[in-house]
Amino acid sequence: MKEAIKNLMDLQAIDLEVQKIDERMADGHEELEKKRRQIEQNQAAIADYQEQFELGEKRRRELEATLADEGERLKDRQAKLMSIQTNREYQSILKEIEDTKTLTQQREEELSLLLEQSELIQKKIEELGQRCAEQEQELEADAKRVSEEARRLEADKREITVSRDTQAKKVDSKYLSRYEMLRAKRNGLAVTGVTRGVCRGCNMNIPPQMFNQLLREQELLTCPTCNRMMYHQPETEER
Ligand SMILES: [Zn+2]
Repeated sequence: MKEAIKNLMDLQAIDLEVQKIDERMADGHEELEKKRRQIEQNQAAIADYQEQFELGEKRRRELEATLADEGERLKDRQAKLMSIQTNREYQSILKEIEDTKTLTQQREEELSLLLEQSELIQKKIEELGQRCAEQEQELEADAKRVSEEARRLEADKREITVSRDTQAKKVDSKYLSRYEMLRAKRNGLAVTGVTRGVCRGCNMNIPPQMFNQLLREQELLTCPTCNRMMYHQPETEER
């Protein structure tokens, strides 16, 4: 029985190593994905600013055209003022001139705010564009590093898989199928140590009687809480 338990423990150790490799590969890809998303977000922000900028430009052109028209009109009215006959007509044109001047002043204020805004937006676009370019460079370097690491990890994994197959053959088939089932259900951990009566798989106590049985190593026991196959793991021993 000792031998059977030992074989299961060794198989579990190999599988955990494979799992760790898989996790590291997934981490690398996740890291790249995160950076890609950041770049996409910045690009979307640039597009937003660009749109805002173009709307501002459109409004600016409208304002400039209107101001030009109004300027013409003002000149025309002022010229007309010279040839006026009646006082009433004179007052009316004078009022028109004043109203146009007020409007012109408002439009000029809006125009000046617009120009200021456009300048700020352009600066933002420039900054974000620069950041995007830097991030893209970083991403390229990271992608290279991750793919190199992935190649190394794949090679490690191929090697481990060979020893895994050898180890799996040592395990009794009835235990092996239970092992595989538990591994699938229990997050990759089917065989767990028990230290001072506590299952390391689920951190729950096992009954004292069962712990004694476990110490005798005469049968393969499973944790009453998580169903994992158990072995005794002294406190000092780290696996
Ligand atoms: Zn347990």
